[in-house]
Amino acid sequence: MKSRLLTPGPSPVPEETLLELARPVPYHRTSEMRQLLAEVTQDLQYVFQTKSPVLTLTSSGTGGMEAALVNCVPPRGKVICLIAGRFGERWRNIGKVYGAEAISITAPQGQAVSPEQLAQALAQHPDAVAVSCTLSETSTGVAHDVAAFGKLVAKTPAVLLVDAISALAAMECRTDDWYIDACVTGSQKALMLPPGLAFVSVSPKAWDLIDRNPERRTFYFDLKKARKDLEQNETPYTPAHTLLMGLRVSLKKIRAEGIENIWKRQARTAAAARAGFRGMGLELFAARPADSVTVAKVPDGIDGSALLGKLEKQYGLKLAGGQDNLKGKIIRLGHMGYIDQFDVLAALAGVELVLKEMGYPVEPGKGVAAAQQVWAEAK
Ligand SMILES: *Cc1c(COP(=O)(O)O)cnc(C)c1O
Repeated sequence: MKSRLLTPGPSPVPEETLLELARPVPYHRTSEMRQLLAEVTQDLQYVFQTKSPVLTLTSSGTGGMEAALVNCVPPRGKVICLIAGRFGERWRNIGKVYGAEAISITAPQGQAVSPEQLAQALAQHPDAVAVSCTLSETSTGVAHDVAAFGKLVAKTPAVLLVDAISALAAMECRTDDWYIDACVTGSQKALMLPPGLAFVSVSPKAWDLIDRNPERRTFYFDLKKARKDLEQNETPYTPAHTLLMGLRVSLKKIRAEGIENIWKRQARTAAAARAGFRGMGLELFAARPADSVTVAKVPDGIDGSALLGKLEKQYGLKLAGGQDNLKGKIIRLGHMGYIDQFDVLAALAGVELVLKEMGYPVEPGKGVAAAQQVWAEAK
C-alpha cells in the first residue's frame, strides 16, 4: 500500500530534495558552504518577500519564535498576544518564561482575532513593545488578517511578531509590504524539507529594538550574533547544513514556479478541499480558513480517532486530528508544499469510504466531485 502524508506538518519532501539529503556529509566551514548559505538566504528573502536579512537557525519552528521574542522583548516588556488556538498561545508561553507581560486577546476556537480587537488593545496599551500573532493557526485551520494587523502596529512603537510556520510559501505572506517585523517559519511545512531548521526575518524596526535591548537573555538564539556572522555567510554554531543543501533544491523548485503562482494554486487547492468536505456533508471548522490546511468537524456519532485510524490502516492516508479539547472532534487535512490536487482528492475519497463504512450517510464520490468542480471551473 502507498502511504500518503497529508498532515499539516511535517509534509512530504520531493524526490529531488530527498536525493540531495542522501549525499555524504561535508565539512561545514568551507567556501562551498558559504556560497550555499548566501544562495539560500537570497532565495528565502524572495519567499518571505523581504529585503531584510532572513536568519537560518538550527531548531524546530518554535526555536525561531523563541529567538524572535527573546531578542525583541525585554524582561517585563508588554506583549499583546493575539490567540486563536494553541500556536497563538505558544507566543504567550514563551514570553512567560522570559518574564514578559502578556496581554491576551483571545478568539473562540474556530474564529480569528479581528483587526478591531487589535486596534482596541493597542489603544489600551500604548506601552506594548510587541504584538504576536499566527498567520495560519494550524490547530483550528484559521487564517488571520496579518496585512491589517501590520498596518495598525506600524503606527505604534511596537513590533509585529508573526508565526508563519504553516503559512509561508503556502499562502500570501508579504513580509515587507505587510510591515511584519519578525516573520518566522520552519523547514517541515511548505518549504518541503524534514524538520530541523527555523527561519526568522528581522525588519529595521526590530533591529533597532534589539540593539536597544541590553537585557537580552539568550546565548544560542542571539540574533545579533547570527546577523554578524551572516555578513560573512557563516553561522555562529554548526548549522544543519545537510538540510541547507536540501533547502537549496526545494527553494529552486519554489522559484521556478513563482511565489505568487504558488499562492494562487494553494488558494484553489484549499477551496477544493473545503468544497469536498462540504460536498460529503461535513461542516468546516474555521470561520476564516487558511490555504494551507483544511479542518472539518467530525459528524455527531462518529468517533474521530477511529476515523483517522481507519484512513491510515486501510488506505495509507495519514491525516491529523484535533489537539487538546478538539481531540476526536475535527480532522485536519494539510495541503501545503509537496501535496498536490490528486493527493487531496485521494484524501477526500478515503474519508468518504471510511465514513460510509462507519455508518454515516454519504454517497461515495460526492465530495470528490465537488472538489473536482473547483478545479474544472478554475481559469
Ligand atoms: C508546526 C507549527 C509550529 C511548531 O513548529 P515546531 O517546528 O514543531 O516547533 C508553530 N506554529 C505553527 C502555526 C505551526 O503550524
